[in-house]
Amino acid sequence: MAGLQPVRGTHDLLPDDSRRHRHVEDTAFQLVRRYGYGEIVTPIFEFTEVFARTLGETSDVVTKEMYTFSMKEGESITLRPEGTAGVARAFISNGLAQSLPLKLFYRGPMFRHERPQKGRQRQFHQVGVEFLGVADPLADIETVSMGFRFLEALGLGDKVTLELNTLGDQESREAYRNALIAYLDPFRSGLSEESRARLDKNPLRVLDSKDEGDKKIVAAAPLMTDCLTPSAKDYFDQLCQGLTDIGVPFTVNPRLVRGLDYYCHTAFEFTTTALGAQGTVLAGGRYDGLIGQMGGPATPGIGWAAGVERLSMLVGDIAATDRPVAIVPMGNAPQAMVLADRLRAAGISVELGFSGNMKKRMARADKADARAVVILGEDEMARGAATVRDLDSGSQTEVALDRLTEHLLAR
Ligand code: ATP
Ligand code: MG
Repeated sequence: MAGLQPVRGTHDLLPDDSRRHRHVEDTAFQLVRRYGYGEIVTPIFEFTEVFARTLGETSDVVTKEMYTFSMKEGESITLRPEGTAGVARAFISNGLAQSLPLKLFYRGPMFRHERPQKGRQRQFHQVGVEFLGVADPLADIETVSMGFRFLEALGLGDKVTLELNTLGDQESREAYRNALIAYLDPFRSGLSEESRARLDKNPLRVLDSKDEGDKKIVAAAPLMTDCLTPSAKDYFDQLCQGLTDIGVPFTVNPRLVRGLDYYCHTAFEFTTTALGAQGTVLAGGRYDGLIGQMGGPATPGIGWAAGVERLSMLVGDIAATDRPVAIVPMGNAPQAMVLADRLRAAGISVELGFSGNMKKRMARADKADARAVVILGEDEMARGAATVRDLDSGSQTEVALDRLTEHLLAR
């Protein structure tokens, strides 16, 4: 029965997985809070046009990857494929222009209908940030370096490479667009069908093509760097200098373009060779035109998003934080449940086996990685006491029941 399988490209996160997953998310939030970020939670679905209009009609996400439904009322809604458009929509809906500058963090599931493979799911998770209201290279320096510090906090600082590029300002982009068309047009018939369509609507996107034939043609295409206005070049130089000053290593990749339409100036990606083909773990850029294009007040912004599953694969096992205390009653002592309740109320994790003999319960305590066992023997109970065995040292002491919480909290 098909219903017993998860939908292709979706995954269950079992406790060991979700511990890694939470670790990635929590590390991100703790880190960005130091930069003044607060968390925003937007709906998982939006009206389709929120994504269609902002991501660009020629983007892969819009042309192939969106999960779109029509509701009974006839409105078209889409499961969010990324976070920025929804945050920008929320910025406009809530009239947040009064509260600029704004630093917003988000986390949660994203949905894209693409071919599932290692590091590529149809439901996946991102953590991301949006810094709205500051059009200054300092904001770019802070945002990009924050991405690096986050990866460092996960212990991945030396496993990732930061690739950096500029897409310039509008004037640079216009000049580059023309240069690209002039170069690509003679190759038109050799391009993939998709890229031929892109050539007319958004030639920059041809650079992002994954088609082998396209890649060969694109290899000798002119570079954005050749078309930058002096002020766009200066903006990029300031970013590079700032990153150097605070010790964030990077390489300039003049061929890096971001898949989405609304980017300008800074574009960047942190990649790793440790994950095979799906090597990008965190990516972002500046999107000064986005909110205005959506019908809101012109508001500059920069942000990034990171793939939680890809990062989880890199961080390795995360130990459970608190090792429990196991209570092992000799026989079926009803006091065990009362005691467990009292210890838990004091903040102690308690493992309470519900059946089995002493030996079985001791084995279970071991398996739960318990730090101590509280043995409730009949003689001790009669004296109002229990035996506590420290499972690390092996030492064993009798402790009065009314001192038990204190005793277990002390170590
Ligand atoms: P790719 O080139 O790998 O398709 P992208 O450019 O589509 O990536 P972004 O839209 O920039 O990705 O999303 C930011 C990050 O989210 C990616 O760098 C990646 O870590 C993660 N990500 C994107 N799509 C998926 C997916 N289908 N499954 C898992 N993680 C994903
Ligand atoms: Mg993609």
